Amino acid sequence: MPELPEVEVVRRGLNDHVVGRRITEVSVTGLRTARRQPGGAAEIEDRLRGRKVTGARRRGKYLWLTLDDDHAAGADCLLVHLGMSGQMLVTGAGTPPVRHLHARAILDDDNELRFVDQRTFGGWTVVPLAEAIDGTGVLLPAPAAHIAADPFEEGFDALAAARLIRRRDTEIKRLLLDQTVVSGIGNIYADEALWRAGVHGRRRGGALTLGKVTETLGHARDVMADALAAGGTSFDALYVNVNGASGYFDRSLDVYGRAGEPCSRCGTPVVREDFMNRGSHFCPACQPAPRRVRKASGGRRTA
Ligand SMILES: [Zn+2]
Repeated sequence: MPELPEVEVVRRGLNDHVVGRRITEVSVTGLRTARRQPGGAAEIEDRLRGRKVTGARRRGKYLWLTLDDDHAAGADCLLVHLGMSGQMLVTGAGTPPVRHLHARAILDDDNELRFVDQRTFGGWTVVPLAEAIDGTGVLLPAPAAHIAADPFEEGFDALAAARLIRRRDTEIKRLLLDQTVVSGIGNIYADEALWRAGVHGRRRGGALTLGKVTETLGHARDVMADALAAGGTSFDALYVNVNGASGYFDRSLDVYGRAGEPCSRCGTPVVREDFMNRGSHFCPACQPAPRRVRKASGGRRTA
């Protein structure tokens, strides 16, 4: 899956090459690409044809293009689901079709915006903008209105997010991955942030100090900013491209995917354990596992 830094690179590319252009013709041929649209491919085509792309926006891993000058709630936007392998490519006119090309929009500068998706988990949907349910007045695609701010947003309130995490009696890693608490932190960066903070992912949000939770959120932002700095420069000027499967980013990671290798801080071998149908990677010395404690009721919980 593309993580936030990859999605941000795509957004920047769309901002440079697509924003300001009008869509003169559009064709959606991938059945699965249009599957989230009630009216299917024809509805996507009808609602995009003739529209001017006015913005490329992102919250967490959600990516969308605003259309025309109407940024009010209810206005159409194009929500882009990258799925596992979705790519947004900008090519010159007359570039031959490629395999797995599922949608194309001809732009008024004769370039073509393409959606290429090998594994077809991604897609396009034209949806209305709606105000975020967090009450900030931010406009989001309606299906993403419940998504919390991500750590890169101007309006992100780390202290408020940390307070929310401390109120929840569940594992800190689960809360970092909960897109309604803080958006954009995926499995890789949750593991990296927890390692930097020296916090085991199975510790309860409420068992950590407010300072430690705030610090962990800061690390999540930093580790994604580092990935963006490393990967944001390696793209061809004309190609707006993402492919989470093959990993365009030369990530320098401390624990993720490094089970058995020495922790770069203390040398203890990194451990991988199953968590939420995926893996958690951590240093058992730097990130001690929660100890089991007995509540007065006799029930077991972890601290
Ligand atoms: Zn260590």
